[in-house]
Amino acid sequence: IEFEHCGFPATLSGNLKKAGYEVPTPVQMQMVPVGLTGRDVVASADTGSGKTVAFLLPVVARALETPADSERRPVALILTPTRELAIQIERQAKELVVGLPNMRTALLVGGMPLPPQLHRLKRSIKIIIATPGRLLEILKQKAVQLDKVKIVVVDEADTMLKMGFQQQVLEILEQVPEEHQTLLTSATIPTGTEQLAARLTHDPVRIVI
Ligand code: AMP
Repeated sequence: IEFEHCGFPATLSGNLKKAGYEVPTPVQMQMVPVGLTGRDVVASADTGSGKTVAFLLPVVARALETPADSERRPVALILTPTRELAIQIERQAKELVVGLPNMRTALLVGGMPLPPQLHRLKRSIKIIIATPGRLLEILKQKAVQLDKVKIVVVDEADTMLKMGFQQQVLEILEQVPEEHQTLLTSATIPTGTEQLAARLTHDPVRIVI
């Protein structure tokens, strides 16, 4: 595929170009078209493969098609194990959504002060990028609702497991409506990760890079 053939609005295509993403990487070639169909995906792809843009494009596409009346609640939830990864993801997401209406993101991560993160949630947010612990803390305060989430990304599932986040991830996903799309990435898929993937996805398309 080429990004021009994905049916993205001109602004998004322009943003891809401006970011220098003209030729899709292998994981993007496989994951973007499948992700756009709404199917679940389990992708074994490591950092450096372009996996972030690969899951962000279906996320942005889904966020774009969601009507204005549900904007107060996020449409997309991206879970990632570390603050550094979350910051990277938000940076790339912002690059893709420049000039698109109603596409605010919120970065909800530990190790940074909570009040500004809560403050940002007072206005309409389309895409949440979070680490599990901080998001649970915010959910307990009812500062955000996940009942309109349509697409979930579980990034670096193997690292999530290594860091002991499995229970927290499952607890978060209990608050997401049953009917949602899941895109899961992992550098490798050992048995434990496979079992987590089986719990989080339904009839996934598998991508191996
Ligand atoms: P990731 O694997 O998501 O951590 O991405 C690795 C790096 O590749 C990031 O710095 C991206 O900005 C860059 N990147 C992602 N997709 C492309 C692309 N299609 N062409 C060139 N660079 C890209």
